[in-house]
Amino acid sequence: GADGPLLSVRDVTVRFSGITALDGVSFDVRKGQIAGLIGPNGAGKTTLFNCLSRLYGYSQGSIRFDGQALEGVPRHGIARLGIARTFQNLALFSTMSVLDNIKVGRHARTRKGFLANALRLPGVGAEEADSSRRAAELVRFLGLEAVADRRVADLPFGTRKRVELGRALASEPTLLLLDEPAAGLNHEEVGALGSLIRSIRDQFRLTVLLVEHHMGLVMSVSDQVVALNFGRKIAEGTPQEVRNHPDVIQAYLGTQ
Ligand code: ATP
Repeated sequence: GADGPLLSVRDVTVRFSGITALDGVSFDVRKGQIAGLIGPNGAGKTTLFNCLSRLYGYSQGSIRFDGQALEGVPRHGIARLGIARTFQNLALFSTMSVLDNIKVGRHARTRKGFLANALRLPGVGAEEADSSRRAAELVRFLGLEAVADRRVADLPFGTRKRVELGRALASEPTLLLLDEPAAGLNHEEVGALGSLIRSIRDQFRLTVLLVEHHMGLVMSVSDQVVALNFGRKIAEGTPQEVRNHPDVIQAYLGTQ
């Protein structure tokens, strides 16, 4: 419903041979929130992202997005539903330009447009023009004008990560999943990323779920934080509450 959570994860369990990667995890994310997902290495964060983007199935539990059960949605239906994600290893076409990579992201949503363009079918002129306009808007928003026509492979890592954000935003998601956006960025870039995530949320009115090891970033940008350890939720609340939670402190001390 209108007042319900945008994302509702209920009792999700994922087992790989011998390993329980997620063990009965439940949490909600309300519309317009920035939610941080933290936990030491192997806690299950990526596995949860892979469940949300339908790369993995789960042996138990359910996930509802905007009231709809994800279990019936195929992997390729996720973008159309309004969920987009970034990848730690960047899902970009490195020999294509920045602008074209962002356009490809848009086609993830309008699948018909993507096929029609690929097959050079007539009657897609308006759609193509719209795609180009929106991609150009995103290039401006992300401050990528100067490199819009450059090959992604020739750009510094921090810039490529911005392109990856543009690719995800191009599908006009209502839920944006960010997989370690700060990884590999320098101090200055991490500072700018915090403001960028907030302005993305405000400008595009979307909801963000963020997996991140950079505690400074998660704690400053999130409205709500969920902490996992060994596949279980160990704490949930405001950044302040989670940071001070004894089980969270213990989980992180245990890894040092
Ligand atoms: P990191 O912060 O290091 O990325 P994470 O919190 O994302 O860790 P996951 O990658 O979700 O953790 O891993 C959770 C557990 O599940 C780990 O023990 C991992 O080895 C295991 N795992 C994840 N994916 C698979 C897979 N495809 N096959 C087997 N085991 C897996």
